[in-house]
Amino acid sequence: MTLVAVVPAMAVAIYCRISIDKSGRREGVEAQERWGREYAAERWPDAMMRVFTDNNLSAARDNRRPGYDELRAAIRAGEITHVWTVEQSRLERRKAPWFELAAELIASGIHEVHTRRDGLVRLDDIGSDVRAIVNAQYVADLKKKIRDKSAELAREGRPTGAIVFGYRHGVDELGRKALHVVPEQADAVRWAADAVLSGWSLTAVADELTERGHRGAQGARLRTSSVRCLLTSPTVAGLRVHQGEILGRGNWTPILPEDVWQSVRARLSGPRTIRRRDGRDYPVSDAMFAGNASRTGRRYQLTGGLAVCAVCGAPLSGCRVKRAGNPVPYLRCQPSRGGRACVGILMQPTDNYVTDRLFAELDKPAFLAALAADEHTARRGELAAALTALDAQRGELAGLWAAGGMSTTEWTAARAGLEQREQALRAELGALPAAPARLAGIEGAREAWPAMTLDERREVLRLFVARVVVDRAPAGRRAAIEERVTVEWRSAR
Ligand SMILES: [Zn+2]
Repeated sequence: MTLVAVVPAMAVAIYCRISIDKSGRREGVEAQERWGREYAAERWPDAMMRVFTDNNLSAARDNRRPGYDELRAAIRAGEITHVWTVEQSRLERRKAPWFELAAELIASGIHEVHTRRDGLVRLDDIGSDVRAIVNAQYVADLKKKIRDKSAELAREGRPTGAIVFGYRHGVDELGRKALHVVPEQADAVRWAADAVLSGWSLTAVADELTERGHRGAQGARLRTSSVRCLLTSPTVAGLRVHQGEILGRGNWTPILPEDVWQSVRARLSGPRTIRRRDGRDYPVSDAMFAGNASRTGRRYQLTGGLAVCAVCGAPLSGCRVKRAGNPVPYLRCQPSRGGRACVGILMQPTDNYVTDRLFAELDKPAFLAALAADEHTARRGELAAALTALDAQRGELAGLWAAGGMSTTEWTAARAGLEQREQALRAELGALPAAPARLAGIEGAREAWPAMTLDERREVLRLFVARVVVDRAPAGRRAAIEERVTVEWRSAR
């Protein structure tokens, strides 16, 4: 018996499908076949062509597609060497089946799908996975749109009817509903954002805005809750929301840049945690931030986790110790609060020492520069840049679509992919801690220090001070305060 080496002939599979589409452009299978044949004839002149066709069938539903099944059987049988289709979603729009198909193609030695719209879809590339996800997203979006007409309206970027501080309702040049910026209110929002990020309490911000003559939306006095509301509203960042879900950019001008808005939100929402020396996390709730000293029960700026014991790592608490018949405030490692009675130090000189150290450091430009370069600065910048790039990309796509370079279907799918990515970026940015670099209110804080409430002072300290570590007094002599108290700055961590 003679073995004949068989060199497999090239066989190009041309897959054509038109889905039932009432509004979009219809591309008949005849046209698709013609494009496929032209492409194949030019690229693989000697190849055999096989056409697989499904007419009026959707790739998104689980309907049987005889042409597609035939194609897959041919692929599995090793009868196909190249595949062409108009766009990847004609073959498979569902995510999991697409990965299955890709796996079968790769198993048959086919590592790419040639398309008219998507170019060469490389199967071993992450790009094709992403495209499949975009296609799945497009179907999900389409279904959702049919279900929810009001979401569809919101998607168009029209503002809701709510009154938002910083804006007034009006119409644009085309007579559609629009939001117009009220300049003096917008200034107030920007100032308030900087103040919050610099450690001002919401109460202090509300008071200051009231003093500057601002009133709430309904003419009411601005309070803590209204200030929180106006700063955290997605509207001020130019974002539109439907049922709590951010849908993308509105057609109005944002007052706060997105990274600033996200930082303010991060700052005002959810407890922040401080890691203690014993490895446990100490939650700093925003109640402490928004309220006043009497509400949180704090009477000293270093208590509540800022000052810790050098010996056992427990947070120091405030107490009063009798000295020559008079009770004097002390900072102590309290067994009742998880300590071991290791250290005790006079409260007032310690407070003064830490405050003096802070203001001395603030005089050094290098100190602020080091703080500005916190560990998240680079990532924050990257995310903000990525969001801006997404905007640009969205604009380019819209331009391409308007110029006829892209079908409505493709454009919708591409946009859905961008929105998904945008949500992910925004979520990550929101999860980063507030930027300590926004120090616009710090000069004011220094001057206002004597008049500040304890909570406000504590907030300013927390912006800069990681921990105040108090050690034991050396045996047999009186130690200077700087021998016993070490201020650990945030930038040094
Ligand atoms: Zn201790």
